[in-house]
Amino acid sequence: MAGGGAAGVLAAGRAAQMGARVWLMEKNRLLGCKLRITGKGRCNVTNAGELEQFIENYSGAGRFLYSAFHRFFNLELCRLLESYSVPLKTERGGRVFPASDRAADVAEALEKYAVTQGVQVLTSTEVSALSLSPEGGINGVRAGGRFWPADAVVLATGGLSYPATGCTGDGYRWAGTLGHHVTELRPALVPLEIREPWPGALSGLALKNVEAGLWEGARCLRRAFGEMLFARFGVTGPIILLLSRDVPEKPAGALTLKLDLKPALSEEVLDRRLLRDLLKFQRRQMKNALRELLPKALIPVVLRHSGIPEDVFADQLTKAQRQALVHTLKGLPMTVSGTRPVAEAVVTRGGVSLKEVNPRTMASRITPGLYFAGEVLDIDGRTGGYNLQAAFSTGWLAGESAARGPG
Ligand SMILES: Cc1cc2nc3c(=O)[nH]c(=O)nc-3n(C[C@H](O)[C@H](O)[C@H](O)COP(=O)(O)OP(=O)(O)OC[C@H]3O[C@@H](n4cnc5c(N)ncnc54)[C@H](O)[C@@H]3O)c2cc1C
Repeated sequence: MAGGGAAGVLAAGRAAQMGARVWLMEKNRLLGCKLRITGKGRCNVTNAGELEQFIENYSGAGRFLYSAFHRFFNLELCRLLESYSVPLKTERGGRVFPASDRAADVAEALEKYAVTQGVQVLTSTEVSALSLSPEGGINGVRAGGRFWPADAVVLATGGLSYPATGCTGDGYRWAGTLGHHVTELRPALVPLEIREPWPGALSGLALKNVEAGLWEGARCLRRAFGEMLFARFGVTGPIILLLSRDVPEKPAGALTLKLDLKPALSEEVLDRRLLRDLLKFQRRQMKNALRELLPKALIPVVLRHSGIPEDVFADQLTKAQRQALVHTLKGLPMTVSGTRPVAEAVVTRGGVSLKEVNPRTMASRITPGLYFAGEVLDIDGRTGGYNLQAAFSTGWLAGESAARGPG
């Protein structure tokens, strides 16, 4: 097994469970370095949703995952983790986490599973090349300065995001050399850069219960409700990552993010609420009259977008100014100038083309003895535990198939 992340550990464990002699080679000192930082250190291991819901959460690749999910799905994963003393809990949106909120518990349990099945774990061991027999099938790998013979290799080297966790795209290069098509590698689930300077000036400010809409010209591509964060380059946080998947590669029109700061209130209800606040704070300047409605740092931004001077008194606000304020509160605009680089993404979009991989076995259709699992494949899912489940399921299936061998 090349790569000791989510997919590689499961592949190794399952192959050993099937009776194969397995070496798990990981370049880092520890297995599962990325796994340990997932879900802000809490690890959203999977989702409690039904199979069909899962399938819809991967852009285009969902159907490819049917076989892998039939072999090993969320329930099987939960049972496995619980049998290694990791009780789980389900949160909003069906997101499943370890009850301890410790991602390291998940990584350690999976390592224990693999070791218990007889996997020989070789950490600090970088695979440098795949080796082929004269007939063109896999016959081993080069790692740690020597040749390791093998009938099968599972490539589970991950994607390109967070390279400090060991993901530097080695698997893509090897697969490409063997004739596999690697689709364009781009960031998915990634923060967005904003052209205007004001979001950067609010860096660190978090907004809860807001709705962001991503617009391409006059067309709304997607909306998301929840939490976001301003950052020095623009915006990030859960709803922004979710929307980032819909950022077109070549937008047909200007890309705009519109922020509804009061999604629970219709324009009419919001207008009535504003009238009450303006009456209550009638002798205050506008910069001080919106304190109950907005975070302090956001008030000057909202007033500027509404064309209202900060020092105008609340009781002097015209109806047109109030309407402009309502309009801004329901759709504060920002121009999206791009995504952050793939190194900062939660997952990589693109990878080894699914056309050349057998979905029933995860075997290469080009090189006998080669199997793929996890993010190295052209699969990316939404937030909510979908990416890890895809890695675990493809890992399980690849390990099982590699142990069985051809036929
Ligand atoms: C910050 C962050 C938070 C995330 N949170 C979640 C979450 O909560 N839920 C969710 O579902 N998904 C989450 N993800 C996505 C999820 O972590 C990945 O989709 C998943 O880890 C992919 O598994 P993998 O085994 O394919 O790759 P990885 O887990 O990345 O493992 C690949 C391994 O291969 C090793 N490797 C690479 N090249 C070599 C080589 N040449 N020799 C030896 N070893 C090599 C690497 O060191 C690495 O350990 C998150 C990602 C990030 C970056």
